Amino acid sequence: MESEFLDWVRQQGQQQFAALNAARRIVAVGIGDDAAVLNALGVTSCVVTTDLLCEGVHFRRAQTTAELIGRKALAVNLSDLAAMAARPAAAFVSLLLPRDSAAELARGIVSGMRPLADEFDVAIAGGDTNTWGGELVISVTAIGLAVGRRPPLLRSGAKPNDVLLVTGQLGGSLLGHHLTFVPRVREALLLNERYRLHAAMDISDGLALDLRRLAAASNCGAIVVADQIPVSAAAKELETDDRPALDHALGDGEDFELLLAAPPEVAAELLRQQPLDVPLTAIGRCTAEPGLSLQLADGRQIPLPHLGYTH
Ligand SMILES: [Mg+2]
Repeated sequence: MESEFLDWVRQQGQQQFAALNAARRIVAVGIGDDAAVLNALGVTSCVVTTDLLCEGVHFRRAQTTAELIGRKALAVNLSDLAAMAARPAAAFVSLLLPRDSAAELARGIVSGMRPLADEFDVAIAGGDTNTWGGELVISVTAIGLAVGRRPPLLRSGAKPNDVLLVTGQLGGSLLGHHLTFVPRVREALLLNERYRLHAAMDISDGLALDLRRLAAASNCGAIVVADQIPVSAAAKELETDDRPALDHALGDGEDFELLLAAPPEVAAELLRQQPLDVPLTAIGRCTAEPGLSLQLADGRQIPLPHLGYTH
């Protein structure tokens, strides 16, 4: 539903913008990336992202705390800013609260956001609250600024022969990582400042699905090498006869690691220098031919399985 709807909105927007004078255009990058880029003040790019989290879809109150829900609602937005290599600046938080526990929940949610907001220098600059007879819904809009000499990193910049890299480890986020992850903001800012990357996104719905999106945006294909995918301990813990750890790494989602595309010489430098506190791993490369493949340990190439999390 979501991708068809987004295509429709994008078409509407293009018609609208076609009618405006080019000088008044504020949207430099619109729907379809991790966040939008606005031409703000003519000086710097303003990067805006928003996420809507619903009880029963993204979290269950019975299984977690209001504090962790609040933290996650902010963290997923910061992860999208990281995906664009934008420095977080402000967040707007809107809460639709179940009537029976509204005040307590609201306080818990904001208390949970506070340490993360402090850590990343994000001002909680506004929002709205309402109560109703339904379940908890949280909407967070986060604003970041492009910093340094480089423009925001997009999904659409990958080129054939670029090396694909990921930060950290993938899979098994359900065992806890999806609530406690630290968005890769510092890592993305450092990488974009020091290295000439071509494309980036955050892995929110699983490597297989998100790589498909990056490849589509960049108009290329990709080969992923199964043996090189950094499979997390949690993914190994969840392994069953039906579902190998690799499937968890490819499809569980909510890893909130960075997926990057870099020219071969830049990737070689990155792998040699390992400039981050988390490991950077090369997992494959972009190809001129469309389509996504998985290279198995015996050298065979199969289509990359359609794994990934869709709400
Ligand atoms: Mg994203």
